[in-house]
Amino acid sequence: MRILLTTLNAKYIHVNLALRYLRACCRDLPHTFILDEFTINDHPEHIAAAIYRHRPDLVAFSCYIWNIEPTLAVAAILKKVRPELTILCGGPEVSFDTAAFLAQNPQVDLVITGEGEIPFRALLEQLAGQQRPPAGDREEPLTASMYRPAGGRPAPGPVPDPAAIPGLAWRRGAETIVNPPAPPLRDLDTIPFPYQEDLDAAGNELSQRTVYYETSRGCPFACGFCLSSTTEGLRYFSLERVRDDLERLLKAGVREIKFVDRTFNAHKKRALAIWEFLLSRRPRARFYFEIAGDRLDEEMLAHLKRVPPDLFQFEIGVQTIDAGVNARCNRRQDWARLAANTRRLREMGSIRLHLDLIAGLPGETYAGVGESFDAVAALKPHEIQLGFLKLLKGTSLRARADEFGYLFLDRPPYQVLASSAITYEEMLRLHAIEGLLKYYGNSHLADHAFAYLAATAFDGSYFAIYEALAAWWEARGLLRRGHSQRDLFNHLASFAIHLARGIATRVTVPPLPGYHDSILEINSHGDTPASGAEHSGCARNLTPAQLDRFYQLLKFDYLCRDRSRNFPGWMPPSPLTEEERSNWMARITTPRSMEKYMPGLAKESPANLRRHGFIELFPYHPERPEEDNPTIVFFYYGPPGSETRVYYLPLNLPYRYSPGCGKYP
Ligand code: SF4
Repeated sequence: MRILLTTLNAKYIHVNLALRYLRACCRDLPHTFILDEFTINDHPEHIAAAIYRHRPDLVAFSCYIWNIEPTLAVAAILKKVRPELTILCGGPEVSFDTAAFLAQNPQVDLVITGEGEIPFRALLEQLAGQQRPPAGDREEPLTASMYRPAGGRPAPGPVPDPAAIPGLAWRRGAETIVNPPAPPLRDLDTIPFPYQEDLDAAGNELSQRTVYYETSRGCPFACGFCLSSTTEGLRYFSLERVRDDLERLLKAGVREIKFVDRTFNAHKKRALAIWEFLLSRRPRARFYFEIAGDRLDEEMLAHLKRVPPDLFQFEIGVQTIDAGVNARCNRRQDWARLAANTRRLREMGSIRLHLDLIAGLPGETYAGVGESFDAVAALKPHEIQLGFLKLLKGTSLRARADEFGYLFLDRPPYQVLASSAITYEEMLRLHAIEGLLKYYGNSHLADHAFAYLAATAFDGSYFAIYEALAAWWEARGLLRRGHSQRDLFNHLASFAIHLARGIATRVTVPPLPGYHDSILEINSHGDTPASGAEHSGCARNLTPAQLDRFYQLLKFDYLCRDRSRNFPGWMPPSPLTEEERSNWMARITTPRSMEKYMPGLAKESPANLRRHGFIELFPYHPERPEEDNPTIVFFYYGPPGSETRVYYLPLNLPYRYSPGCGKYP
């Protein structure tokens, strides 16, 4: 039979591990396996056409909350044009409420619930035993449906006994039958290496994509919102097997491996052994791990100190810092320890840190989300992900939805809209903040300007800046548009000037419970903010001197990003004349200066430095904006596509700066 394994990934660079496991487990059977992946951005009609052209006898879809709806659309098209084609779904999104899923989706014939390896192998063994020859290279698909006999009676089809396949859900006439689940695979090493066919393929693409790899299944914890809490026990691939697999992937030139272990450091000795192995290979690759930040001890931290820059990225789930909320989710977390360990990792500077928060957890208020946000922002991770609670099928929180007053989408992704602790209005505000976090915080677009604004006008609260900025954007309809990098700088410049001009006015509506003590409405030019633009805030108006520093920092951030020299109107003009700039360039490009101040650029020719570099004089040191410390900054952009390198050079000249010379909007 021709078996097509497929899914709709979130992005092209992702590869689906589950499909590769299924193929690996069945590769000795006399079937032809085709693995073809699409993305959720592909049009369902195009996906259906591509699948149709493969002429499969059975199509197996891997289903998740992010792809189930387009997957069902593809399946419906295929069923119309090939009614006899057997359509199988598996994956977390179809493993719960399976009978209802089958009843609601007549285009799907079969579902495999839970882990797929045992049921899928059992199914294909039956099919292999019954199939009509010739298999393999046969061009034409089978014509009889395997599981949907006409007239509701079992067909004399290729699978005589679907009831004997554990974990299979199937139809008998109008009835849907869900077999008892397959036992979990005890010895994970029995699953063959899943990427063999990819490595054997002539145009092996793995080096261009993110390879997913697991060394264990299960999680020692049981957080009420997480699907990992629905399976018991923690199982491991042997260390020998893991080393062997990783060796093969690295030899094949794979550049990015994402370990999908739910808590990679749950078993300390194994985590240390795998990290040690990776370090010993000195790979030119990047590795992503999901870890529990509070489960790092001194030995692990000492080990991680040896990790060179850009080799590891850690994703640390904080979700909330509120112990009461965690308890309601059955989540164990030592926030103090997690924070201390994250600070240590941050100080090491070599591991990229991505910290997760979830809004909408049981009993957590808007103010509580703000407190968690500020606590996480204070750790200065490279990235903060503000996610929104999803009540996934099979989780205990979904079962307790009424208890916490949850309103949530009844379609995937089942996202929470409100609860008894947080209103829909507040959730919308958090969505706006999340959008701005992506634009500014996680892209590090204007870190220096943002940090200064937080310190001077928002009592150090990043959450307060984001909520003020979100309300300001909403009032101007900016949340519903796309924005270029230059737009984002312009908006921030404009936001600051409005704060400084006192156009921001306090109004006397009641504060949000427990978080900020006032409500701030920002209005400019007499325009009326859009409905719902009021927001909590603790903004203090910027003084002219503070505004000047803010603009200098924004200019610095802008120059770090933009090599065009097409400067926006808000940018303070340069205090340097072209002649002074040229003199400075001549002074710093002498071999002695280069060696002393910019050793990283010592190999660049003076012509390159002039072509790809830019000199500017700032009245304040960008890293220490409170000090009046005029500083020459050399921005080296390098050839297009390079990252900007920034050097601070001693001024050694008397310099007097007159604030306010910038052309502010
Ligand atoms: S949220 Fe993380 S720690 Fe909690 S059960 Fe899921 S995988 Fe485990």
